[in-house]
Amino acid sequence: MTDLPDHLLAGYRNFMTGRYVAEGDRFRTLAREGQAPETMVIACCDSRAAPEVIFDSGPGELFVVRNVANLVPPYAPDGEFHSTSAALEFAVQALKVKNIVVVGHGRCGGIRAALAPASEPLSPGDFIGKWMSLLAPSASAVSGNALLTAGERQTALERISIRYSIANLRTFPCINILEGKGRLKLYGAWFDISTGELWVMNRQTGDFERPEIA
Ligand SMILES: [Zn+2]
Repeated sequence: MTDLPDHLLAGYRNFMTGRYVAEGDRFRTLAREGQAPETMVIACCDSRAAPEVIFDSGPGELFVVRNVANLVPPYAPDGEFHSTSAALEFAVQALKVKNIVVVGHGRCGGIRAALAPASEPLSPGDFIGKWMSLLAPSASAVSGNALLTAGERQTALERISIRYSIANLRTFPCINILEGKGRLKLYGAWFDISTGELWVMNRQTGDFERPEIA
């Protein structure tokens, strides 16, 4: 009897006898020397779209922030609580990451909520409603398009939101300056949970394309 769900304890046991044995040196080196990831990933909280799984990455490789619908809010130094902006600040200014990748995904519940806002919030705080209101102008433009099917509207807004987040990254002065100097690159990608397909944003056109992985 422990104070942790059984499946987590079982998973931890597997980790200690499997992955920790295989990668123990790396964990110990990282503990001693600190982390120096080159890439920050901004991903959704969705349990099906974990960036460490998609990119098959090991300890110390990715600096990850996850929030509902992988959104970056605009730069707003207003003294409020900005968790994503805090993570960005640390990644860019302290870790000096070279890449920031915004990873969206198919069947995103946050995007679905933005397209069809619930009449009743999930709780009196309506935190999701407030958070997804960042996308309200894009959502209303997409949801008003009767030529698109529901699935097409969903995918469109998922991809538009990635471009929106990248545009907002550029509102952070430090990011804008470092990108201008060529020391920081911004990327977008969209992951299809069902097929495992990754679509990568063309940084010139903003279109999403399948990468060559052969
Ligand atoms: Zn999502």
